[in-house]
Amino acid sequence: MLKCERCGGRVRRVHRTFVERFTYMGIYECRDCDTEKFYPRRYMYHFGPHCRCPYCGTFRVTRLKAPDKIDRVHTGFLNFLEKQFGGRLHHCRFCRMQFYDRRILTSEDITGTTQEGPEPTSPKDQADSDA
Ligand SMILES: [Zn+2]
Ligand SMILES: [Zn+2]
Repeated sequence: MLKCERCGGRVRRVHRTFVERFTYMGIYECRDCDTEKFYPRRYMYHFGPHCRCPYCGTFRVTRLKAPDKIDRVHTGFLNFLEKQFGGRLHHCRFCRMQFYDRRILTSEDITGTTQEGPEPTSPKDQADSDA
């Protein structure tokens, strides 16, 4: 059962707008303090200026020079598109997953800003249950 991060109260799922349904897996609102909690959908990891793992959302990925024969390659339409449009091969050591991404690594960004927000604390808790 989900709890409010601010007061620990019970939360309820709120109805999403048409646009929000494509952006978030779910939006929850606290009954006590009206704090809202947004759970972004996984494909939102494909937006933003920096390369990140499409599976767990971490920015701590490495670029591969050649495909790794052991770890699996992320499958999916967006990954296919990234490859078609010149995406380079990357690797997430947390998921042991290879994927294609056209964006720069956060370590390559001279501005040093990560505007996507904090990384998810427990990626495995994010289930695509509402697909
Ligand atoms: Zn609350
Ligand atoms: Zn990952």
